[in-house]
Amino acid sequence: MLVVACVKQVPDTTQVKIDPVTGTLVREGVPFIMNPFDAQALEESLKLKDKYGLRVAVISMGPPNTEVTLRKTLSVGVDEAILLSDRAFGGADTLATSMVLAEAIRRLSQREEVAAVICGKQTIDGDTAQVGPGIATRLKYSQLTLVDQIQNVNLKTKKVRVRRKLEGRHEIVEAPMPALITVVREINQPRYPTVPMRLISEEREVTLWNNKVMQLAEEDIGLKGSATQVRKIFSPQRAQGQVLGDGCNRPEEAAHLLIDTLVGKDIISL
Ligand SMILES: Cc1cc2nc3c(=O)[nH]c(=O)nc-3n(C[C@H](O)[C@H](O)[C@H](O)COP(=O)(O)OP(=O)(O)OC[C@H]3O[C@@H](n4cnc5c(N)ncnc54)[C@H](O)[C@@H]3O)c2cc1C
Repeated sequence: MLVVACVKQVPDTTQVKIDPVTGTLVREGVPFIMNPFDAQALEESLKLKDKYGLRVAVISMGPPNTEVTLRKTLSVGVDEAILLSDRAFGGADTLATSMVLAEAIRRLSQREEVAAVICGKQTIDGDTAQVGPGIATRLKYSQLTLVDQIQNVNLKTKKVRVRRKLEGRHEIVEAPMPALITVVREINQPRYPTVPMRLISEEREVTLWNNKVMQLAEEDIGLKGSATQVRKIFSPQRAQGQVLGDGCNRPEEAAHLLIDTLVGKDIISL
């Protein structure tokens, strides 16, 4: 039985620059990393391998250099890494991205039964958190988002029990498998590769599935299959702050000033 981890290669956001003229991301010379939440998705898949003997496949849709990120996953114990890359997949929004990923998982499931698909809760670039639920909907898998604990996998009854991290509370949910699970940062601490594993992974193959392999209709993928297009990207501008009174030496006076100002701006009423 197979567990599939979805990982996306993203720009290292601390160093992302926006072109002031075009308003788009400057990708040249920007280092790439594995989306941090996907490192947790990968680790959780490997934990299912350790505990239940499942095989782990990792898939990623992206440009050819995504192979670097996929090779790193081989060095921590992934059994199979698949790169979904083709010019026809480029420019995809979340609808078209989840289409290609779901079809790749469907292909894998024709070879081997899929127990679960694990995604990060969201990416640090697109940030939509739509791809996981999109895959679940297309494949009609149980959808378990914001999971911070996989408590039990019963391979006989085909049920998975997880804990979801919601605002101010947790929720324990049991669902039939196959399930698509999106994970939050608190779920685990990703393992590091050993030096021998890193060396072995250099020799291993990252499988390429382009659209000759996938055979998807061009109107369903990439830019043509995208219902949305980004018109502009910009950093949020914060309004200039205002210092009221002397909060360190005369806190009461500053508090009164703050209240009067908020009332004056009709933000609060007394
Ligand atoms: C309106 C809109 C228009 C866009 N247009 C373009 C465009 O024209 N050109 C362009 O390059 N990009 C575009 N993007 C970005 C592109 O759609 C996203 O990179 C992609 O759809 C993934 O969405 P996300 O980053 O929000 O992932 P999320 O939904 O936040 O990701 C959740 C999880 O899904 C999995 N996942 C997501 N993407 C991948 C992937 N590629 N491979 C494997 N696993 C993955 C990961 O496990 C991830 O943690 C657009 C995005 C939006 C919202």
